Amino acid sequence: MNLIADLQIHSRFSRATSSAITIQNLEKYARLKGVNLLGTGDFTHPKWLAELKQELKEDGSGILTSKSGFHFVLQGEISNIYTQDGKARRIHTLLLARNFDVVEQINNALLKKGRLDYDGRPIFGFSCIELVEMMKEIDDDIEIIPAHSWTPWYGIFGSMSGFDSVEECFKEYANKIHAIETGLSSDPAMNWRLSSLDKYTLLSSSDAHSFWPWRLGREANVFDIGLSYDALLDAIRQRKGFVETIEMWPHEGKYHYTGHRNCNVVLSPKESIKLKNICPARNAESH
Ligand SMILES: [Zn+2]
Ligand SMILES: [Zn+2]
Repeated sequence: MNLIADLQIHSRFSRATSSAITIQNLEKYARLKGVNLLGTGDFTHPKWLAELKQELKEDGSGILTSKSGFHFVLQGEISNIYTQDGKARRIHTLLLARNFDVVEQINNALLKKGRLDYDGRPIFGFSCIELVEMMKEIDDDIEIIPAHSWTPWYGIFGSMSGFDSVEECFKEYANKIHAIETGLSSDPAMNWRLSSLDKYTLLSSSDAHSFWPWRLGREANVFDIGLSYDALLDAIRQRKGFVETIEMWPHEGKYHYTGHRNCNVVLSPKESIKLKNICPARNAESH
């Protein structure tokens, strides 16, 4: 069956999200959009997790079902900020898990490292290497996916993240990473230019902070697979039944223009090349 899967969303317990996000609203607008598998968002948050347990039923397949028959997969996102080899690092990763029992074990492990209740996307000071060790010790089927890989601050390939490759970030566990999220500002064609990414499945999801249909599923993954966590893992890890991603026009993403807030300067890529990447306001000042 064709699954249109949005594998990264957030609950109302994450910063800067709609306070009206509920399972019912997510389902309602996902159905309207044509999305038929949704990440739950924020499984690390105790209040959201309690709601998920109340609203969603497990049947052993690893895919959860709402009371009205809509499908979800357990998903969270965490932020790691740390120093590695004397250099500051920061990165967001997506976590997918098979069932509530695994989620409980993930949350217990994370609780030893910090709090989970202040934000749906909690921040930790340990490394991605430690993250993989922790997760794989719990369940090899926890999928770890670098989130919105090209965004400047917390994307693995962003200019401020401190990393330039999956290997640099995950070191000896790089082979545990099977997919990256290309994010809203990039599309597969842009990622194909980097041959070191050829071995990764290029996923993309909405990272929606509300349930509105112009946000939910604005990027999504199309799978031709059966409805199970195993099939989803095969699609992510081996591209078995992975058809394509649904993409926004990448220029809609907010990272293609450059400029200075203080100089009130905004430049398109073409304009900034013409100016040799020097801010015209600064230039005027120094002359
Ligand atoms: Zn993120
Ligand atoms: Zn996110």
